[in-house]
Amino acid sequence: AKIKEVDFVKSSNRPKDCPKDDRPEFAMLGRSNVGKSSLINFLVRKKDVALTSKKPGKTQLINHFLVNKSWYIVDLPGYGFANAPESARMDWSSFTKGYFLNRETLVSVLLLIDASVPPQKIDLDCANWLGRNNIPMTFVFTKCDKMKGGKGRRPDQNIQDFQELIRENYRQHPPWIMTSSVTGLGRDELLLHMSQLRNY
Ligand code: GDP
Repeated sequence: AKIKEVDFVKSSNRPKDCPKDDRPEFAMLGRSNVGKSSLINFLVRKKDVALTSKKPGKTQLINHFLVNKSWYIVDLPGYGFANAPESARMDWSSFTKGYFLNRETLVSVLLLIDASVPPQKIDLDCANWLGRNNIPMTFVFTKCDKMKGGKGRRPDQNIQDFQELIRENYRQHPPWIMTSSVTGLGRDELLLHMSQLRNY
């Protein structure tokens, strides 16, 4: 399950422009600020891999990173900018939905959810949409290091509440993993999980 090398391959602004080889891929999705760039960098142990997708003009693109020349991590645009114009949000959803519904090499969506806050409507909507459309997915809870000392509710309670709230939209409950890019929690588990889903 080791990551030896990661190469940025391309940014695509339409699903049909994505790489056309048959390598398996995992799509990372989540609210802006959920910790997606940190998680990608922590997975691949490089500081700057996910920076590409943060450059102006690249945030609305599908970014493919090739790992060990054999599988892809795909960085998708973050959702939920509170002040995004309604039209931009519409574009995001048709664009991203098209990707999920048509991408045959998609092994699993890794839906990132911030465990340091109570369940957010936009995350629940996203999880429910993916569940209803039978898109294979894994919940990746981020910022689980905020477990101790934080004010208010604990991440484990937030995680439990989230799973309760989406239950009825899933025939089988998706796998879920707790992570922290600060402490390294969940890195090995997530890499192992992805290698098991790829069958190697
Ligand atoms: P992105 O917008 O989803 O790419 O989020 P970033 O990776 O840029 O992270 C957003 C903010 O959350 C930054 O201030 C990070 O330092 C912080 N952050 C990201 N991951 C973690 C984590 O695992 N634990 C804690 N405590 N903070 C995190």
